[in-house]
Amino acid sequence: MSSNIAQNYPYSSESEAARAATVVGILSGNTSLASTVKAESIGLPDEERWWVWKCPTRACPGLLHAAGMAVNAHAVYTLCDTCSRTYLR
Ligand SMILES: [Zn+2]
Repeated sequence: MSSNIAQNYPYSSESEAARAATVVGILSGNTSLASTVKAESIGLPDEERWWVWKCPTRACPGLLHAAGMAVNAHAVYTLCDTCSRTYLR
């Protein structure tokens, strides 16, 4: 892959229930990541569905799930379900 432009566009979407369960699953085994997310994001607004993005980490096949709103930016704070990195979308 030589371009990551397309990766900034949503890949799919998921229900609020699926999103919440996925984020809890990612954070439950990673307390340092959970505290980072808590420090850097605030709660999401009430929505029924959320976008899912392709993870931009090289060679990572994961997807990014909304975990909150970024404290310092008007962006969605996302978590990869595979490499557990955080990205703003
Ligand atoms: Zn990833």
